[in-house]
Amino acid sequence: MLIAGLLALSDPPHDARVELGSANLGFGWLRVDEQSGTIAELGRGPAPASPDLEGTHGAPLLISPAFVDTHLHLPQFDSVGADGLGLLSWLREAVFPAEARWADPDFAGQMTTRVARKLLAHGTTAVAAYATVHHEGTRNAIRALSDAGLRGHVGQVLMDQEAPAELVRPAAQLVREASTLRPVGRIEPAVTPRFAVSCSRELLAGAGELAQASRALVQTHLSETREECRRVRTLHGAVTYTEVYRRAGLLGSRTLLGHGIWLNQKERAMLAEMGSTIAHCPTANLFLESGSMNLGENRRAGVRTCLGSDIAGGSDVSMPRVARAMIETAKSRRLLASAAFRARVTVPSAAQAWWQITTGNACTLALPGNGELQAGAIADLVIIDPARGPEGDREWSHRDDPIGAVLYGWDPRWITHTFAAGKPVYSA
Ligand SMILES: [Zn+2]
Repeated sequence: MLIAGLLALSDPPHDARVELGSANLGFGWLRVDEQSGTIAELGRGPAPASPDLEGTHGAPLLISPAFVDTHLHLPQFDSVGADGLGLLSWLREAVFPAEARWADPDFAGQMTTRVARKLLAHGTTAVAAYATVHHEGTRNAIRALSDAGLRGHVGQVLMDQEAPAELVRPAAQLVREASTLRPVGRIEPAVTPRFAVSCSRELLAGAGELAQASRALVQTHLSETREECRRVRTLHGAVTYTEVYRRAGLLGSRTLLGHGIWLNQKERAMLAEMGSTIAHCPTANLFLESGSMNLGENRRAGVRTCLGSDIAGGSDVSMPRVARAMIETAKSRRLLASAAFRARVTVPSAAQAWWQITTGNACTLALPGNGELQAGAIADLVIIDPARGPEGDREWSHRDDPIGAVLYGWDPRWITHTFAAGKPVYSA
């Protein structure tokens, strides 16, 4: 299939530890080969033949690598909007009852199929996702995501304390079950201790051993709220939250830590040294009033960061909206900073935010071939027509900052097609 329009290409950062890369637009075309699942050809300038897909109303399409969401919870998609609770009471009252429904593996599979359709309709083809503590439910979720064409990492949640009896299991059983999960299609199992509150030392140590033996991605939560940090100190003793994970062997270059808001400089230095990545989830941080992440401080300390929706702590599955929330969080920090600190607050541009939800997030999840527009890359693509429909923006490509126009004016109905490994998996 030949597609013509503005290509969202990527400028890599000079130093990926402290800088964001940037998306830049160039007129061109690409040919998707469904057989090999790749971008077979890509060129700048006019297409060599009449395109199968091109813009409407005289405006070009935006052709972008598909979005990558580095932090979300599959069983929580029906729990969006349970407002007015802090993290720990929200888990008890809104999240755990929803996760308990995954005791029925058929329900888990069917719900994941529905979630996958929603992700693809919003242009997301790759994820790092939490399932639940249920082993069969997790297996069905992995299968359902794979069948839908998604790529990424999914983990059985490891949890042996501080949750309802129906959602905890003995540590040894959880580690044994998680160790039997195998890749299915483009989905790989991830080692997924929920967070230090809901894991005993024995379970964290078991998870660390499994991570080192399997080389799987590790995903967990870190320092999201102050109340949670206090609870971790009570449960695990007088060491920092980050140190709890380090001692368990859970910090490494394939470790993804959701949130990382309430960190001190020692903890940031430790994360930088271990090469671990913080999954920044700005919509969730605001919804649960957990805090506001200091993106610039983390990057200056050499801590890698990426971006996630954290459904259902975050309410929006749409990654451009999460990207905009990242910018808004940084701007609100700058507004509230004292004059002396204002210049130290980094506010990402729209082009940097677009790079983050495509190329940057794909790099974090170690998805070779994803997140870039070039010949030979995996054809995970989202095709966007901002001019679409009676109220479309027909001038978007003529604005001073076209990516800014798309990001700030974002309407999910602009997505006309999503491709996963060269196959059309969504069309409007
Ligand atoms: Zn989360």
